[in-house]
Amino acid sequence: MFTLKRGAAALAAAVLVLSALTGIVCGGIPYASAAAAPVIVIDAGHGGIDAGVRGKQSGVKESDINLAIARTLYGKFTDAGFCAVLTRKSQAGLYGLPVKGFKLRDMQKRREIIKDCGADMVISVHQNFYPDGTRRGAQVFFKKGSESGKRLALCVQERLNAMPSAPESAQPLIGDYYMLQCTEAPSVIVECGFLSNAEDERLLLTEEYREDVAYAIFAGAVSYFT
Ligand SMILES: [Zn+2]
Repeated sequence: MFTLKRGAAALAAAVLVLSALTGIVCGGIPYASAAAAPVIVIDAGHGGIDAGVRGKQSGVKESDINLAIARTLYGKFTDAGFCAVLTRKSQAGLYGLPVKGFKLRDMQKRREIIKDCGADMVISVHQNFYPDGTRRGAQVFFKKGSESGKRLALCVQERLNAMPSAPESAQPLIGDYYMLQCTEAPSVIVECGFLSNAEDERLLLTEEYREDVAYAIFAGAVSYFT
């Protein structure tokens, strides 16, 4: 685990140095014209009246866990010199008024952000739920037919599988999701854990674990670029 962390930190440092040399200043300002810094869109799933799934024990909203992990990821990418863009920055959804058709409007807004900022990579953060409460662990999805998406998914899944708490070595899966259809850039959905599993839920409620998950996703994404 230590070597994994150290390796990824070195890669991130390399990106930072590269960015410094080319005078890139993105610093959290979306859509900056700092073309040399890869633009990473971090998408916290759900929001507002769409809570996503709920923790079986605590009732925690998936949307809140997603946002916490997405914000942490944003900080890691920004610190490493990438141009990071959050689709959702607060607990509110992106649909405008909570009336008929809100879910589609929410998804379309996310797609618009991805297009407008010229994303080089999209990472969508979600949590899983399954009736059988024994299933647990992180699962990464990519778009069918996307070689770059598959490669990114493999990089991220590998890091998530290497976490000490990972239950098994999961393989990335093809997913037929709207968010994966928004761009030709490598794009993944990361289901960080199962809110239907007591252990995953307990872990996801801690800031420390969310930090570890965010680091694993970040390190996987960085290894994709190298
Ligand atoms: Zn979700």
